[in-house]
Amino acid sequence: MFWARKNDGQILLTAYGGAGSVTGANFLLAARGKKILIDSGFFQGDPESEKKNWEPFPYQPSQIDWLLVTHAHADHIGRIPKLVRDGFRGVIYSTKETKEISAVMFDDALRLMTNESRNVGQPVLYEGADIDKALSLWREIPYHEAVSLGEDISFVAKDAGHILGSAMYEISIERERILFTGDLGNSPSPLLRDTELPAGTIYMVMESVYGDRNHESREATKNKLFEMVNRVIKEKGLLIIPAFSLERTQVILHDLNNMVESGRIPPVPVFLDSPLAIKVTEIYKQNTANFNERIRKELETDDIWNFPKLNFTLKAFDSAQIQKTPRPKIIIAGSGMSEGGRVISHEKKYLSDGNTTILLVGFQAPGTLGRMLYDGLKEVKIEGERYKVKANIEKIPGYSSHKDSDHLVKFVEAALPTLKKVFVAMGEPKASNFLAQRLRDELGVNAICPERGKSYQLV
Ligand SMILES: [Zn+2]
Repeated sequence: MFWARKNDGQILLTAYGGAGSVTGANFLLAARGKKILIDSGFFQGDPESEKKNWEPFPYQPSQIDWLLVTHAHADHIGRIPKLVRDGFRGVIYSTKETKEISAVMFDDALRLMTNESRNVGQPVLYEGADIDKALSLWREIPYHEAVSLGEDISFVAKDAGHILGSAMYEISIERERILFTGDLGNSPSPLLRDTELPAGTIYMVMESVYGDRNHESREATKNKLFEMVNRVIKEKGLLIIPAFSLERTQVILHDLNNMVESGRIPPVPVFLDSPLAIKVTEIYKQNTANFNERIRKELETDDIWNFPKLNFTLKAFDSAQIQKTPRPKIIIAGSGMSEGGRVISHEKKYLSDGNTTILLVGFQAPGTLGRMLYDGLKEVKIEGERYKVKANIEKIPGYSSHKDSDHLVKFVEAALPTLKKVFVAMGEPKASNFLAQRLRDELGVNAICPERGKSYQLV
């Protein structure tokens, strides 16, 4: 009897993804005979990492009761339809925005996978029916409203300020409070509200993408873009921005919008050449309630994602016209790490052109073409062909939508009065270890980097 009761009180945490890597976020919390999953993301990067997406889940999806989704980036949602295909029938929770963006992301991923399957015979991870089933199990929840899951378990979503709809989940199991941060925003964000601070947190599972680096300020970031655009226009050049369709694209478009409309740069053709980014921008336009106050004010008088000579090239025919348009011109195209998407055709054409600038504005996973450019390789292979890199490769890391090292430490510091342990996850080992060390040294916190697949007993 004693053992049964003791077992009842246990809370076990296991990181099945997002441990030792940025991507593949997938955390399981087991308590009171129930199982809560937090995120079910894609592993991204080199082929070895991506292979993991096709492996069976290391638990029975049919035995998971609830899935909480922090935000709609692929490395947090990519395997949700597979989870459903493999038997999950519980309830999925997220904010309204996360659900809407996820639906668009799933369709896009399925389209890419179907093409890949035709080309190289790789089986698809899921089908359209699995996406529909996942969406039918999905409930939208607002920020700050406690959701009771019974049996002394409840949770509340707080604004993570990372991308539109992003949430942290504070899960209460009796008196224990466990915070899953998902990804934490680079506040103050141009569009979003600031990340909320943790309070009463006892255990924290946090991201650490930039655990070992700091970003430039928002002003410096905007100025760098302005100077780069100005130079490209003067030199009648071409600027290619491989951009993440979600958040980064909308932030950059907003900055370009303000530069053009204030007359700081003349209108030049800007192409948003990504069907996914175009659809996501549409969702942004329709869901403005959770933007920060400054942007909501701006939206009263201006469509902040529309300015002279901005073209949304949804159809392949329009996309093909871009390369015929004379310079100067700017192309924003997915994918952000140059892994598939329309940016590839532009990179094939312009990588060896000295009057082209390729601007990297986000994290580039090891093994991706984006990472090879980031690392300064002078020759790269795309789809089996070799290309000399003569284009200027530039970086503006300040466009990241992740907190940097100093701000991650500050975030944890806010939870110090109640904090017992921090699990530093969702980062490359170097970044996670560096941050864990900082948390131990500077805050005296018990901080560890969880091993993938190992269970940690919280209580
Ligand atoms: Zn994210």
